[in-house]
Amino acid sequence: MKVVVAENCGFCPGVKNAIRMAEKVLGRHRKVSREEKNVYSLGPIIHNSDVVQRLAKTGLKTVESIRQIPQLPAGGTVLIRSHGAAPNQIAELEEKGINIVDATCVLVKRVQRIAGQLDRAGYKVVVIGDENHPEVQAVVGSATDVIVLADESDLHKLPLNGKLGIVCQTTQSQEHFSRMLGAIGKHGFSELKVINTLCKEAIKRQESAVQLCKQVDIMFVLGGLESANTRKLAELCKKYNSQTFHLQNWSEFDKNTIFGKNKTLPKIAGVTAGASTPEWIIAEFVENLTKIK
Ligand code: SF4
Repeated sequence: MKVVVAENCGFCPGVKNAIRMAEKVLGRHRKVSREEKNVYSLGPIIHNSDVVQRLAKTGLKTVESIRQIPQLPAGGTVLIRSHGAAPNQIAELEEKGINIVDATCVLVKRVQRIAGQLDRAGYKVVVIGDENHPEVQAVVGSATDVIVLADESDLHKLPLNGKLGIVCQTTQSQEHFSRMLGAIGKHGFSELKVINTLCKEAIKRQESAVQLCKQVDIMFVLGGLESANTRKLAELCKKYNSQTFHLQNWSEFDKNTIFGKNKTLPKIAGVTAGASTPEWIIAEFVENLTKIK
């Protein structure tokens, strides 16, 4: 089968940096005493279970809450993942005396900083995004009383005639951001300040994916099921190509389910991958898909 890979896909600079930092810390900790060599990640370092499992083999322990990290002297180091952590979490870690290695993506940090600035300037901070996503939760912790809007059904959360300061989760689509801005405008406000906090890397991946999915018979989006930017890619591709499948890796590929038992094989398949999907997953998938006859 002919397979075309999206021009922009896979690891973004923020994810590459987080992995580089994790590997560096793990390498350093191999040489020190047993007590000091615990390296924790507060939540998965990135939303890709293959990468998390690989780093776990070299000693990275993923914990879901700070309570799971023991008190020093056995405390060791905690890595702040690319999605960041809320200021109160950082303060709690500092109180526990744990070394902090901050791998938060600079663009994610920027959203947190802007939320704080808007709050101090008297705006009611509004984040367009998923309230369960760690990036959004860290932004919520960076200002007082932040409102999170996932979609139009959340507009009722807005104050009437409020002075609103709006930011967006970095991996949302331009389409969704602008649609929500229109809806907020119609809902009413006394003053509106909008800062575009979308990530250009995520946008580039979305544009390449949409362009490609329109030209192929079937589209595969590779990446973690928890990965917001991968899910957004799959959502966009599904809109333009109903034959879109979101898979984590080649092991999830099932020819019968995907192509149907009696169907003729599609001629051209497109492949894209989220910003947290490593190159080896893409390469393995493409190699195996190409062999299908
Ligand atoms: S997708 Fe963008 S915001 Fe998210 S980690 Fe990558 S570079 Fe940073």
